[in-house]
Order: sequence, then structure tokens, then C-alpha cells
Amino acid sequence: MAHPSASASALLRHVRTGRARSRAELVALTGASRNTVTARVDQLIAANLLAEGGRGGSTGGRPPTLLEFNGRAGCVLAVDLGVTSVDVAVTDLSAQVLATVGHPIDIAEGPAAVLAEVDRLAQQVLAEAGLTPADVCAVGVGVPGPVEFSTGRPVHPPIMPGWHDYPIPSTFARYDCPVYADNDVNVMALGEMGIAGSDEDVLVVKVGTGIGCGIIVDGRVYRGAQGSAGDIGHISVPPPHGQPVVCRCGNENCLEAIAGGGALLRAAVAAGLPVTSTRELLELARHGDGPTLELVRDAGRTIGTVLAALVNFFNPHRIVMTGGVAQAGAPLLAGIREAVYGRSLPLAARALEITVSDAPAMSGRLGAALMAIEGYLDEDAVTPAGRADGPAAAGR
Ligand SMILES: [Zn+2]
Repeated sequence: MAHPSASASALLRHVRTGRARSRAELVALTGASRNTVTARVDQLIAANLLAEGGRGGSTGGRPPTLLEFNGRAGCVLAVDLGVTSVDVAVTDLSAQVLATVGHPIDIAEGPAAVLAEVDRLAQQVLAEAGLTPADVCAVGVGVPGPVEFSTGRPVHPPIMPGWHDYPIPSTFARYDCPVYADNDVNVMALGEMGIAGSDEDVLVVKVGTGIGCGIIVDGRVYRGAQGSAGDIGHISVPPPHGQPVVCRCGNENCLEAIAGGGALLRAAVAAGLPVTSTRELLELARHGDGPTLELVRDAGRTIGTVLAALVNFFNPHRIVMTGGVAQAGAPLLAGIREAVYGRSLPLAARALEITVSDAPAMSGRLGAALMAIEGYLDEDAVTPAGRADGPAAAGR
């Protein structure tokens, strides 16, 4: 049996992420035998995924031949579905965007209408990049609701009427390749990790109308037994002023019912602030309006109490805030930091960084591309016999 950490896909991953640059470094990194590494590298070169580059530095003796990942060996489609807009991109296997287009949609029009539009946009970006459907190795789709990852079907998504159990991968049957669909928070979390990868443990927390969390363990998305890991929006928190608040899920005092975008807006209107949307509220906060800043900071504190518990439980290297409300930036972060650093155990909080995403608009597209690339390279590209089940088979 092969050494599990020296599979062809694992070796490819080490070269792609820059952790190893030669056969010798792969041997050192994986503990596999030189023969095993050589055979697998030959397989990857034959598949056009690795190329031999120049010579590396030497400490005596013959300098090693450097290995390079060939990102141009194929392309993937990346789809970032939102509630009111969709972005579609085609990238190479290094997640370099070759062409991208955005378009307004209404997710509530249902899967047939929305995915027909996505299909049209996908053909448009492929044509712009001078590519054909046959060039597409995999498709990644981020969805604003819960998705069963193994089948790519949404599961009772609260803001997506008509989408329950719809086989999203069937939309992309013309590409005859694996299709991966996941909720937008997990996809954004992958995007925050970026192509360089990371072996860190990170929580990516999206605060918009809802609140969700992408859990990254050793640089990879952790989905849990049924794929719902990270659904922190429905963790119970103490209600403000002791008055219970009913959540859209039917329970009382959920985090997102008390500190999400909708809750912020209700609190602002109740306080007599001149706002009719979350966007206007964030605009006021940006202009330094005192009462608005206090509301945002309160929401930050409430979110922070939940994050403090997660920090004690999970001990992440970093927490990255993203989503519409996270654009409030400083006041939200101040509330979160106050609660997290005040309530986390010193060992867990000592080196913890809490930041706001610096490219929230790109992370959905980049994450969808990375999900497709990782799925393809891990499971399909270097397994000559292909696979019998899993996402590749979904929707066919
Ligand atoms: Zn709830």
C-alpha cells in the first residue's frame, strides 16, 4: 500500500504550494522512498501537470532538477452565486483568472432561470478566454445556502425558494467533468486561504444578513459529518435587554437574529436612526455617526462572545471577518476583539489574529476556482482509472 502522504496528488500539492521544489525535497517532506517519489513524479510529468525546470542550488554534488507546476494544463469554471448577482470566471489550474463576468440575478427566480443565466455566462467567459467546453477540467459553485457537498444539492435553503434538492451539477453536464457545489461561506474561506495554500487553522466568519463560519483545518475546509459544520448563526446567545428574539429558523435568541444585518437594521430603526437598509446603516457608521457606531460595536461584542467560545474550543491561528456587515470594519472589529480577548483563555488568544478580509469581492470566485482545482487535482487528474462515485458522478 502506498504511503498515504506520498500519493501523486499529495506530491503535486507540495509542489503547487511551494513546499517542495525537487524530488529530493519531496522525499524529505513525505518520508517516502526515492523510487516511489520518482515513479509518481514521472506520472505527473506524463500527465503534463509537472514540468522540469532549471537546476537548484547545490550543497556539493550534482544540483537537483527543479520541478514546476504547470498551471496551464487545464482550466476550471468558477461560479459565485449570490442573492442578487452572480460572478462567473474561468481560471487556469493556478487559479489565475483568464476571463470573468458579473451579472444581476434574483436567486428567488429559482434554479431553472438562474442556472440558465449562469450557463450563458460560462459560455461567454470561455469564448472570451479562447477556450472550449472540452478544456474545462472541473466546475466549482458557491451557493448562498446549505448544500449537501457529496451531491451538490441545496438542502432547504432559507432564502432560495425552489432550490431544495435541485441537482446543481446537472447544469454543467455539457462539460463532462466533476462539479463541486458548496455553501458560499466555505467557498469564501477557501478563497481567503488563496492559491499559496496554508497549513493553518483559520475561522472565516461571514457577517451579512445571516452569520456563518468556514472552518479551515490544516489549510482545508472542514465540513463535518453532514456538511453543516460552521453554521454558527443559530448558536444561542443572551438576548439584549432580556427580551427574547425569534429567529427565522423558529428558535429564539440565535446569534444572527440578534447580531446579523437584519437585527442591526431593526435596532437602528427602533433607535430612530434615519436608515432603511443595512447599506445605509453601514454608510452612517463609516461617517462616524455615534449611535450607529455603538450599535455596530454591540453587534461585534455579541458575535465576539460566540467567537471566544470557538477560540477556546478550536484554538485557530487566525479569524478573518467577511461579508457585508464586516465592511463596517473598525467598530465591528473593536467589539469582537473586546469580547474575544476578554473571554478566551490566554494560551488560545496569545498569538490569535483577528482581521477583516482585504478582498471580499474576489474571495467567492477565487474560492470556487480553488475548490474545483483541488477536487480535480486530488481526485481525477492523477487517478488514471477515474472514480466511481462522489461529486464527479453527481448529476450525470
Ligand atoms: Zn436561528
